[in-house]
Amino acid sequence: MQARLFDSDLETCGLCARRCVIPKGKRGFCNVRENVAGNLVTLTYGKVTACGLDPMEKKPLYHFLPGTQTVSVSSFGCNFTCRHCQNHHISQEFCRGVSRAEPEDIVRAAVGAGAESISFTYNEPTVFYEFMYDVSRLAKAEGLLTAVITNGYMTEDAVNDIAPYMDAFRIDLKAFSDSFYQTVCGGARLSPVLDSITRAAELKKHLELVTLIIPGVNDSAEELSSMLSWEMETLGFAVPHHFTAFSPMYEMTDRRAATHADVDAAFRMAKDAGLYYPYVGNVMHAEGSTTYCPECGKRLILRAGYVCRMPGVKDGCCVKCGRRIEGVFSVPDK
Ligand code: SF4
Repeated sequence: MQARLFDSDLETCGLCARRCVIPKGKRGFCNVRENVAGNLVTLTYGKVTACGLDPMEKKPLYHFLPGTQTVSVSSFGCNFTCRHCQNHHISQEFCRGVSRAEPEDIVRAAVGAGAESISFTYNEPTVFYEFMYDVSRLAKAEGLLTAVITNGYMTEDAVNDIAPYMDAFRIDLKAFSDSFYQTVCGGARLSPVLDSITRAAELKKHLELVTLIIPGVNDSAEELSSMLSWEMETLGFAVPHHFTAFSPMYEMTDRRAATHADVDAAFRMAKDAGLYYPYVGNVMHAEGSTTYCPECGKRLILRAGYVCRMPGVKDGCCVKCGRRIEGVFSVPDK
């Protein structure tokens, strides 16, 4: 399948900020885009490693169709090589013998299951961009919403290209230093991630951020403070931000797991800084699992694991004071 988004030299991939120059017969950094006789092609189109129902809360997306099921779709490959990847068996392997699917199959599965959305997730969707693009376009035609769970390393062209068919961007903000992206993520950089976050916000897409707290690696008070300052100056106070607990895995077993205290510290910093919707993930944390009204403090959405109840929200507004709560609470025209 011919790749989307390449430069006029026909060799430079324009999908992600690595911008690989790929000579004939070679592949890019992600190992799933190849120059075949002068044509850049994707090797992941229609190759599906997972297609199944998940609670939206698992993504995690807390302000996007809360309490609903989404059809999660993944392929294989990644443009990062994170040392702590929890899905390294599909992100760092060239998976052969996977299921084949057409975009129509995915959309039919979602409609048949009664899902209201399709999410692109598990491995980095940027490296199965063409399939995501075609599935999303069809999904929108069927009245489904769409979400991409991404490391945010897409180019601006890639974000702009998919934007008409993508409703939500759940972007990892893995750290707030170039050194982390360089050493942990395989020679990546922070600034393209910040650019994608900013672009998704400018395009008025639903946006949520996730920072996996790795004790002693990305959770210093200085680093988190810089992250929060950038976030609030650039995006305002209302982007949900999840601070989730690291567990040792893959190539990063030399670090201890994050404790309740570690993620609670990040959560408190965000809350004290004025963020409306900080959350905690991967540890039990009642306050960090609850959505509060920024105006009157009413408890709006209560979560236990992936189960959620919404006693305080009606038609996207706080039932007590009427404040509109940032997010997408229903499918338009449904
Ligand atoms: S998607 Fe990124 S890593 Fe893969 S070939 Fe394109 S620029 Fe390189």
